[in-house]
Amino acid sequence: MSDCIFCKIVSGDIPSDKVYEDDLVIGFRDLNPQAPHHYLLIPKQHIATINDVDQGNEAIMGRLYTAAATLAKELGFDEAGYRAVMNCNGDGGQTVYHVHLHVLAGRQLTWPPG
Ligand code: AMP
Repeated sequence: MSDCIFCKIVSGDIPSDKVYEDDLVIGFRDLNPQAPHHYLLIPKQHIATINDVDQGNEAIMGRLYTAAATLAKELGFDEAGYRAVMNCNGDGGQTVYHVHLHVLAGRQLTWPPG
């Protein structure tokens, strides 16, 4: 998608502080971190929202969680814990319409979220 900022991060047209990459997914630091660790894991393929996920991209969506677990182990917050969350549409708080898994760690996170 030519007007999607996360597609531009995948292509390298917009810089990012990359922390993870495999054949399906990249991960980078969130520009506006909400915790000491705050990363976004995104599929290289453009998928706008969770509502657009179907059986054809189950492997990609699953990989986001595999990547989260790998990143948590690599950065050492797997045992302390973290939150992996994906927002969908307006009421879910989604602002960038390319699915992304937020990975937040490094402080006690509260529930329910605001
Ligand atoms: P959401 O509100 O769930 O759609 O999350 C979008 C996230 O993308 C926010 O946490 C933003 O801070 C983050 N964000 C937006 N643009 C960039 C960017 N160019 N690089 C890194 N993070 C970004």
